[in-house]
Amino acid sequence: MNQFEEVHASPGYPLPGNQPYAHKCSSYIINAPGYICHLSSLAQQKGIPIIRHLIGNLDEAFHLPELGRVGLVVNATSLGARTLKGVEDPKVFPARGQTVLVRAPGVKVCIMQTEGFMAKHSLDGSTSRVYSVRPLALTWSRLEPVLPPAYIIPRPGPDGHVILGGTYFHSFSTDPDPIESERILKSCYALEPRLSTGDKGGWEGIEVVRHQVGLRPAREGGPRVELDRREGDGVVHAYGFGSAGYVRSSELRGERTAEWVNRFQASLGAAERVAEIVMRYLDGQRGG
Ligand SMILES: Cc1cc2nc3c(=O)[nH]c(=O)nc-3n(C[C@H](O)[C@H](O)[C@H](O)COP(=O)(O)OP(=O)(O)OC[C@H]3O[C@@H](n4cnc5c(N)ncnc54)[C@H](O)[C@@H]3O)c2cc1C
Repeated sequence: MNQFEEVHASPGYPLPGNQPYAHKCSSYIINAPGYICHLSSLAQQKGIPIIRHLIGNLDEAFHLPELGRVGLVVNATSLGARTLKGVEDPKVFPARGQTVLVRAPGVKVCIMQTEGFMAKHSLDGSTSRVYSVRPLALTWSRLEPVLPPAYIIPRPGPDGHVILGGTYFHSFSTDPDPIESERILKSCYALEPRLSTGDKGGWEGIEVVRHQVGLRPAREGGPRVELDRREGDGVVHAYGFGSAGYVRSSELRGERTAEWVNRFQASLGAAERVAEIVMRYLDGQRGG
């Protein structure tokens, strides 16, 4: 992890999309599905039960059949907070993100071009850890005129998968839009021609694994992380992290990583903040 460094294109050092200059620094790539499995096995190792239970009203969480009566609930229902009775937060909305998962094992460089900015990240070759977090180097550059948003993220792991994106629209639709998919493939190919591995060549030679749509749990005004006291019980709300819910982890804790991520990702520190509120509340209940 290091500071941003400006780099300029030269005949021996072309930049993606033939941009004249960029900025470079270090960051991490998280393989999100692998990371969730890692967190769930950590919880199991610590004897924390994982129970799946759909609730219609927040009050139900205080006496789930599997757990019995509890006095404190952490409400991390993300988009569910919009309709869950007892919360019904109208500021919560879905920010639709469409991506294309492709196979391109030769692509080790991550490039991002979004709303006039572009980042190029390159894997530094260090071994992936069990939860698939890898250091990488990245570069950013201001683009003129503004180009359509596009990003290329090689996913850590043995499959040679690369995530191509993306969109950020206020919408509940989870159906992939074929016009948007084509736009993503073309824009990403313009940034990284090595994505194309098939006989057809060009953007049509990109080996598509699947088209995906996710709804980022966004919230007007930012995430809600606070204690809500209710007739002797407590609720710690922790939702609305939008496009930044994954970045925080205990493994990324400390040193300058956290400092750097904090500049870009709203959720940094959210988990610690929630834990702090919970501990303070429990201390208060114990009269401490
Ligand atoms: C295309 C795309 C790209 C992204 N890129 C990044 C990125 O680069 N970096 C990053 O950090 N993040 C990224 N994200 C965002 C990240 O996925 C979210 O911020 C994160 O998943 C939010 O985590 P969460 O735990 O708050 O909510 P969720 O993961 O949505 O979890 C909420 C949980 O609450 C449960 N729930 C809701 N209502 C109820 C109910 N009534 N009863 C019981 N359970 C309920 C749900 O089933 C779900 O399991 C991206 C998202 C998308 C779609």
